[in-house]
Amino acid sequence: MITDILVIGSGISGLTYAIKIGEQNPDLRLTMISKNNLLESNTRYAQGGIAVVSNFKKDSFDKHIQDTLIAGAGKCDKEVVRFVVEEGHERLQELMNWGAHFDKKKNSLHLTKEGGHSEKRIVHYKDRTGLEIQESLIRKIKTFPNISLLENHTLVDLITDHHTGSNHQRCYGAYVISNLEQEIIRISSKITVLTTGGAGQLFSHTTNPENATGDGLGAAYRAKVFMKALPFVQFHPTALYPKIDGNTFLISEAVRGEGGILKNANGERFMPNYDPQAELAPRDIVARSIAKEILKSGEDYVYLDCSPIKAEDFINQFPTILDNCKKISINPLEKPIPVIPAAHYFCGGIEVNAYSETKLNGLYAIGECSYTGLHGANRLASNSLLESLVFSHRAALNSLTEMKGNLPSNRFYQEIPEWEGTHHISNEKIVAIGQLKKSLQKLMAKKVGIFKTSEGLIQAENELKKIFLETRDIYMQNKLTLEVCELRNMVSVAYLMIKQSQELKENIGVFYNHDNVA
Ligand SMILES: Cc1cc2nc3c(=O)[nH]c(=O)nc-3n(C[C@H](O)[C@H](O)[C@H](O)COP(=O)(O)OP(=O)(O)OC[C@H]3O[C@@H](n4cnc5c(N)ncnc54)[C@H](O)[C@@H]3O)c2cc1C
Repeated sequence: MITDILVIGSGISGLTYAIKIGEQNPDLRLTMISKNNLLESNTRYAQGGIAVVSNFKKDSFDKHIQDTLIAGAGKCDKEVVRFVVEEGHERLQELMNWGAHFDKKKNSLHLTKEGGHSEKRIVHYKDRTGLEIQESLIRKIKTFPNISLLENHTLVDLITDHHTGSNHQRCYGAYVISNLEQEIIRISSKITVLTTGGAGQLFSHTTNPENATGDGLGAAYRAKVFMKALPFVQFHPTALYPKIDGNTFLISEAVRGEGGILKNANGERFMPNYDPQAELAPRDIVARSIAKEILKSGEDYVYLDCSPIKAEDFINQFPTILDNCKKISINPLEKPIPVIPAAHYFCGGIEVNAYSETKLNGLYAIGECSYTGLHGANRLASNSLLESLVFSHRAALNSLTEMKGNLPSNRFYQEIPEWEGTHHISNEKIVAIGQLKKSLQKLMAKKVGIFKTSEGLIQAENELKKIFLETRDIYMQNKLTLEVCELRNMVSVAYLMIKQSQELKENIGVFYNHDNVA
């Protein structure tokens, strides 16, 4: 298959980018692949909202910039922070014009506050902002006849000179597996865009869906593209305990923003002992404080007491949270919610410039799979949807210019070789893949989680090596399946994260190694 632009992933980043291309140039052929259905992504689970300065009487770009820089602990790129904050307002307007709704009070947007923000500036739709955005973008993208949507198709590898034997030093598309038929398809493209989201599944407790296995990062690594800031994994302080149907459900920070209070096993409020901003301190501080309280008490969780929030407000603002708590027989209007920290957001990723271009020509990366410099060592709450909107716009405009430039001939793209591989995998190997995945998740949670030690990182590297060798054998000797692809990527991302963590000699932002403390 040949297309002008291949977009890999259908979250807010991929959809926004593709819609922009569709609007600007209806003659370009764009193909979007998505690992599952178009809806399934981190985006659809976003609850809190998008951080955008909207109330200019109280708030300002400068205040949002300052809050972002403080959260990022001196590691943000100031220029990136400035343009993301300043361009956000226009991008939000565009999103609303495309059909996304946000809660209003009288005629203005209803704004909430989250940890680390000095003003109320989170634009939201109840507690299901991501779902509202995702559904409206999907409705919009289906109106473009030049965009083909391939659901249940998964990136295997990016096509580079390694596969073509050429020396253009570009990316030429991707090999993709059809999840149902399990066939490998070659999709040649002049521009390839990774929007594959994060890799929360590297850890046993994560707020991310099952498809967040770091595939874009793994494929970029194999294409020799540089990865930055991987040790900066944000753990969300408040995930519901226990899991529901095997998935960890997030209790949005907005609950604390509206007055929810964290209490330990003895029913005592503890956050003021750790930080003057108490429950609304940046996420890393809240997550570490909870982890310490859990260690002290020996219990598996702490409590989020929602009694300071008026019942009527809670019901209106947090209907999804209410429903999910009830699934485990907790009524937050009557009883505190048991919560634990869970892997939530990858601040690091594929290094890109201000237009989302990677170092490999023809390859872009947008959204959570990328490292733009916005988040530095810690993301300010609700800045990620904002980053996706701003960078999708910039990347789309840049791609349109690149398409007019000097590219390899059409014939070159037609002649890219097909994928070659074996055609059989045994049941025994399928079971082994599942076991290896679980071992990796446990290892990462234990040794590369909120608190790390230098010794633990060495042990993690050694243990991972065994998982790597088994995975490599399965990959080399068996038919390629979706599960093998995911495991291969998880191993690569885990390896890079461990190696980069070993190199970090200061505790900064979300990163904490006990042995770095002087
Ligand atoms: C529970 C939760 C709550 C959140 N709340 C907020 C919030 O309130 N505000 C905020 O700003 N951020 C929030 N975030 C973070 C934010 O949702 C994500 O950072 C953002 O949605 C990322 O968008 P994306 O388009 O980059 O990736 P995603 O939305 O994750 O989309 C990735 C896409 O890539 C596809 N994909 C993955 N691998 C492959 C592959 N190999 N082949 C093909 N397709 C692939 C997936 O199927 C999916 O379609 C939250 C995240 C979670 C998990």
